Amino acid sequence: MFDEPIMSREEVFLALRECEQQVAAVRARQVHLLRGLLRRDPDPGADELAGALDVSQHTARDLLEAARRTPERSQTIAKLESGSWSFDRVAAVAALVGVGADDATVAQADERDIAGIRRLRALQQRITRRTEHEAHSKRSVRSWASLDESVGFIHAELTGYDWRVVTKALEDRADLLPRDTQATAGQRRADALVALSQDWLSGGSDSSTTSRGGPVVTVIVDAALASATGAEAGVMVANGPRVGPETMDRIMCAGSVEVLVDTGPGVPLGVGPTTRVIPPKLRRFILGRDQGCTVDGCQSNYRLEVHHIVPRSQGGTNDPANLVTLCWWHHHVAIHGRGMRIDPTSPPHRRQLIPAGRSP
Ligand SMILES: [Zn+2]
Ligand SMILES: [Zn+2]
Repeated sequence: MFDEPIMSREEVFLALRECEQQVAAVRARQVHLLRGLLRRDPDPGADELAGALDVSQHTARDLLEAARRTPERSQTIAKLESGSWSFDRVAAVAALVGVGADDATVAQADERDIAGIRRLRALQQRITRRTEHEAHSKRSVRSWASLDESVGFIHAELTGYDWRVVTKALEDRADLLPRDTQATAGQRRADALVALSQDWLSGGSDSSTTSRGGPVVTVIVDAALASATGAEAGVMVANGPRVGPETMDRIMCAGSVEVLVDTGPGVPLGVGPTTRVIPPKLRRFILGRDQGCTVDGCQSNYRLEVHHIVPRSQGGTNDPANLVTLCWWHHHVAIHGRGMRIDPTSPPHRRQLIPAGRSP
């Protein structure tokens, strides 16, 4: 059957459909056999069935549910035997009957695809107060770092309603960030989550206003190790993960960061007062001079920040000519996230970005 002449797409689908009809007829026989079994043993167990048939738990449960909910010599069985309904459709309808849907609702299944039948079932499914209380008591956000502390993970389990609140907030926040056709939906949600957290820590979405007092984060630098490795080692966020040179550059741009320099191994000798890496007065001057994100075509005013065109780690200074205003997205995602750079020869209010790894 595999050395047939080359078939058109339509012919392949037709042949697939015929196979599926044969599967349906065989499933009808299995449902018939299981119905007989259920008369003697009302709960044969999906595990045992899955093992005996070498199928997934899911398939085993579907077979049992179909046997329980589909009467012999019913319309449904006739459709399954003739192959006009697939087994998946029969199983979806059986599950709908199983949650107590009335005949009128079950009749609606005729006009729906399988996903539609499952939605009907979800709507019928009873959610008791107890179910809700259980879902609520299971709520949890787990948060942990990878072994080398370079990546952090967050896993959340929330009630359906709270989950919607959180995803709606992330979607809305992502909509305020500049359009980003390169980013996946997951990356957009990640950007939105960080942006929301930044807003909270600094008491608003306008980073030119003063923050809620102290620095957002404290960074501890082992000077000897950091200078020997170009900041690939020896830099750590207090109570938090290790960071590398790109984040160090970002930190040197950011306003609300305190940098503690540890000059000797284990002995914090040169701990100075809070270092505002770009002095606040200079920062205000640059923000006032640029009046918004300087990247060509960017309209975003969200969390405007000052960035070093040539990073401090590569000899860049706090000279105003080396400083530009960027929106949060261009600063954190495009530049320090993806490794793009500002073309220093581009005009001050129409800054061009150079992709990572390419020279100007
Ligand atoms: Zn920067
Ligand atoms: Zn921008």
